[in-house]
Amino acid sequence: MDSRIKSPLLGEFDTPPSTPHMLGALQKIHLPMRRFKDNDEVDYVIVGCGSGGGVLLQRLARAGFNVVALEAGPFWDTERDWVSDEAGSHQLYWEEPRVTGGDHPLALGANNCGRGVGGGSVHWAAFTPRLHPSDFEVYTRDGVGADWPISYDVLRPYYEQLELEMPVAGPAYYPWGHPHGYAYGPHPMGGVGNALIKGCTALNIPVSIGGPVAILSGSHGDRPHCIYRGFCIQGCKVGAKASTLVTHVPDALASGAEIRDHSMAARIELGKAGRVTGVHYFDRNGEMHFQRAKAVVVAGYSIETPRLLLNSACPGFETGLANSSDTVGRYLMAQAGNVVLGRFDQPVRMYKAPPAHALTEEFYETDPKNDFARGFAIQTVGPLPIAFGKQMVAAKRAWGWGLRREMMDYNHWACFGLLGEILPWPDNRVTLSEDKDRFGLRVAHVSFNLRSNDKKLIEKAKEKTMEVMVAAGATEVAQEARYAHLVGAARMGADPRTSVVDKFGRTHDIANLFICDGSILPTQGSANPGLTIQALAARIGDYLIAQGERIFTSNKRDSTEPPFRAELAPPGTYRKGVPRIK
Ligand SMILES: Cc1cc2nc3c(=O)[nH]c(=O)nc-3n(C[C@H](O)[C@H](O)[C@H](O)COP(=O)(O)OP(=O)(O)OC[C@H]3O[C@@H](n4cnc5c(N)ncnc54)[C@H](O)[C@@H]3O)c2cc1C
Ligand code: SF4
Repeated sequence: MDSRIKSPLLGEFDTPPSTPHMLGALQKIHLPMRRFKDNDEVDYVIVGCGSGGGVLLQRLARAGFNVVALEAGPFWDTERDWVSDEAGSHQLYWEEPRVTGGDHPLALGANNCGRGVGGGSVHWAAFTPRLHPSDFEVYTRDGVGADWPISYDVLRPYYEQLELEMPVAGPAYYPWGHPHGYAYGPHPMGGVGNALIKGCTALNIPVSIGGPVAILSGSHGDRPHCIYRGFCIQGCKVGAKASTLVTHVPDALASGAEIRDHSMAARIELGKAGRVTGVHYFDRNGEMHFQRAKAVVVAGYSIETPRLLLNSACPGFETGLANSSDTVGRYLMAQAGNVVLGRFDQPVRMYKAPPAHALTEEFYETDPKNDFARGFAIQTVGPLPIAFGKQMVAAKRAWGWGLRREMMDYNHWACFGLLGEILPWPDNRVTLSEDKDRFGLRVAHVSFNLRSNDKKLIEKAKEKTMEVMVAAGATEVAQEARYAHLVGAARMGADPRTSVVDKFGRTHDIANLFICDGSILPTQGSANPGLTIQALAARIGDYLIAQGERIFTSNKRDSTEPPFRAELAPPGTYRKGVPRIK
């Protein structure tokens, strides 16, 4: 059989050798993946290969460490596994059992975390705004939430680096927070973006056009630019949207990392010396293994990370590993993510663009005129027909013939989303349910309640988003309450009594146990969290690399800021490609 494939998009390439872990054409890896044995003691085992885990894996492998990622879901082959079809893409989400509760229960599954190599970055819409400087000192400024143990300026070089690694397209001047520009030019506007611009302009609200979004507006390395078909949260078969699967994983493998897919971490083992020694996990056949490691990093998302720590309770840590502060699972946050739908006389055709392409952060900061602290953003959302149908059921109680009529009218609707900052509260938390999953592991119970500040903020954000929709020319407006983007539940902080990890993601309790995902965020602002999670992962990588062998042998903590290592970016990404600004 001819071992070469001719693709109209990518030209001619070799078919990958037949192993279940071989990357598809898009990722262009022709090397067999390195394999470690369970009884090899690797330097690092990372649990979860998503946004945070994927970036850290690449950094550690590139720096020469022996590193294995255990990933509960599959290793996607973008050519083979993905379809540009809304109904055909549901396997991208974590649909394993979880229990939800509280007065404002969060919808789980497709509403939050991914499952498979790339994690949530596979199905994210790829909006990539930075947090604002104020987000790092919310308590000092506004007397609510918490301060971060680092400032914006510490994370700033990593924001700039990741924006070039993914890379991010956006305007040349972005006015909010710390003003900055984007190296890649903005995307052309789709119908929803045009509506947002029209509404904001009519009300004198500044609006960012064409990004920031981690979608290619020009070709970059091996990856082609966006073709504007709108299947971004279905994975982007084209490869124009950044996910760690296409941005960082190929270089991780080329640098000698192993990713073990269908490997569900069950428990982290604590050794006699008060240091972790490895991770127990189930393989694809349900058989239990133990991967030995000199250090462990948990990067399983804001629900599964605390779940794993709680399920790893042991003598000395009876209420959960690294939980002497009783903070594991607490301060879970979601952003208010109400969608506002508007009907226009002229067709909008929401599907004809990435859902993420225009936004305003004009209401992001605390406004003394409001009776609440912090703020919100307004963004484009471009649901495809099935998601739109579900929104119509929720927003208009549409059903039967009425629902059918709304769905036939799909092309006339635009959809904006508000992104509102909900504050971190100790009782919004992940605990263990008595229910068990197919491996016999206790599943996460997620409890969520809104407080007064949150409710007032959501009301104001809803009102303003509807006002913008009307100003854009919508003749009918409806809205659905929802939440997006879970973060927190293993937060970082300077005080070990009130936080789980320090400013480098190292657990206060165990010197060789780290966390590197969205769960370490102390507050969330009203920016989508993915860029911040990846920037933090790059910084944690720099710290681990600078510390070198000391992490494996010593319990002494060194808080020296690591040197910024630009050269560890995947080749052909950072300061490569066709950026507008060098
Ligand atoms: C529809 C949708 C759209 C979104 N759009 C945006 C957006 O536009 N911009 C943005 O910034 N964010 C967006 N997000 C949020 C973003 O995807 C997440 O915040 C981000 O991916 C979280 O990163 P993480 O590293 O914490 O976890 P993840 O990326 O979810 O990675 C966790 C990984 O760990 C694995 N795992 C978990 N437990 C175990 C275990 N026990 N053993 C082995 N593996 C395990 C999981 O399978 C998963 O692959 C969106 C989310 C959704 C649902
Ligand atoms: S619209 Fe662009 S980024 Fe989204 S799926 Fe299509 S090609 Fe990918």
